[in-house]
Amino acid sequence: MNHKLALKHPIFDVISRSAEALQLKCFVIGGYVRDYLLERESTKDIDIVAVGSGIALAEEVSKNLPNHPKVQVFKTYGTAMLRYEDIEVEFVGARKESYNEDSRNPIVENGTLEDDQNRRDFTINALALSLNEEDFGDLIDPFNGLKDLDQGVIRTPLDPDITYSDDPLRMMRAIRFATQLNFDIEEESLKAISANKDRIKIISKERIVTELHKILESKQPSIGFILLEKTGLLGYILPELTALKGIDEIEGQRHKDNFYHTLEVVDNIAKTTDNLWLRWAALLHDIGKAPTKKFHKTIGWTFHAHEFVGSKMVYKLFKRLKMPLNDKMKFVQKMVLMSSRPIVLASEVTDSAVRRLVFDAGEYVDDLMTLCEADITTKNPKKFKKYHNNFKLVRDKIVEVEERDRVRNFQPPVSGEEIMKAFNLKPSREIGIIKEAIKEAILEGDIPNEHEAAYNLMIEKGKKLGLTIQD
Ligand code: ATP
Repeated sequence: MNHKLALKHPIFDVISRSAEALQLKCFVIGGYVRDYLLERESTKDIDIVAVGSGIALAEEVSKNLPNHPKVQVFKTYGTAMLRYEDIEVEFVGARKESYNEDSRNPIVENGTLEDDQNRRDFTINALALSLNEEDFGDLIDPFNGLKDLDQGVIRTPLDPDITYSDDPLRMMRAIRFATQLNFDIEEESLKAISANKDRIKIISKERIVTELHKILESKQPSIGFILLEKTGLLGYILPELTALKGIDEIEGQRHKDNFYHTLEVVDNIAKTTDNLWLRWAALLHDIGKAPTKKFHKTIGWTFHAHEFVGSKMVYKLFKRLKMPLNDKMKFVQKMVLMSSRPIVLASEVTDSAVRRLVFDAGEYVDDLMTLCEADITTKNPKKFKKYHNNFKLVRDKIVEVEERDRVRNFQPPVSGEEIMKAFNLKPSREIGIIKEAIKEAILEGDIPNEHEAAYNLMIEKGKKLGLTIQD
């Protein structure tokens, strides 16, 4: 079958002519071809395989492009990359690979296009289009990848057991592609992943996290997490989530399965936000429930302070997975810590409780509401409607209170310096006490968030502390 249409971007013509000049054959392979055939939004990454030197081809292509873009050469991998407009083109010489036990980095020899297709992870990623003059646009599909694309199947070109054992990152990739494309992983592959799960240990945390991000960024992330759980990989990567699995029953009282509940929350939030870190927060919002779970004869199951415990676990989890311990992590912690706050509020929406919520959540109050709305997973339509309506009231109240009291990015209306000056004080405990009293009075609604009212309260409080005002 011919797919010239996939190659209408002028860059392909330049690559084709450059290969001709060097008298070597070359092909577009992998994600670009797959996504074109799937009619997915075309990727800006193009992978070119040259039967010969990929680096030489990249340099020739650069010579033939109008602005002669810089060629970045990765000698160790025998690859080269250049950027043209918004496209990134990667060049590699066709190769044959063999592996040893303890590394995912293969021993590499020069090879044919077929050798190169053999080393690819999945049949749908081994599809190649010719860039050669005599058959420009022809599809080279030795493993029936087109059929697998049609039927929505992830399959390895060679024996799956060897494929996954050679490079265990492919297990994560299989699950990630199954999630992104909503494909099934073929039976033998799934078995091979389960059999090789402990090989994931040789994969760097950074690479695992990259795949987790892509799963979380998908339309329905639960597909990936269910597969990770089913194959046993999840226990190696996120044991905090496997610990949420299962339903206990004591004296006829059961709690919900918090693993599947969590996945529902993640799927829900994926419909309302693309914010990756908010999706992480949804994934981790209940992790504190496993270590805090208790049964009490009188009240049944409790998860006392699970939000606090969970937010502490977020730090350890990020650290273990070598994720950034920066403001993103703090954001996830804050969301986990505050994840039950609006729920408590929804039963009685008072001004002061809303002010406190906005004060504590600050600029993230909308994200927190989005998380709580996603957390509504009841199957009872009446309750579902009621809870959503309650949150709608909370959201309205947030807007109203914020317009009036501006506590979202709270700045004390009377500064510490002003207090020191008013009472002729050096830095001392009293200043903190007065500031706290002003903040509390504003949040409670006893005084408005204004300088004059706050200043008067400062005088009153100061007097009670035995301070005298300066003239
Ligand atoms: P995406 O851009 O969505 O990640 P992609 O298929 O382009 O998809 P890349 O990681 O850019 O993914 O890889 C490009 C191609 O290289 C793949 O299509 C596949 O043919 C091959 N490939 C990548 N990683 C592996 C691997 N671990 N084992 C075998 N082949 C791989």
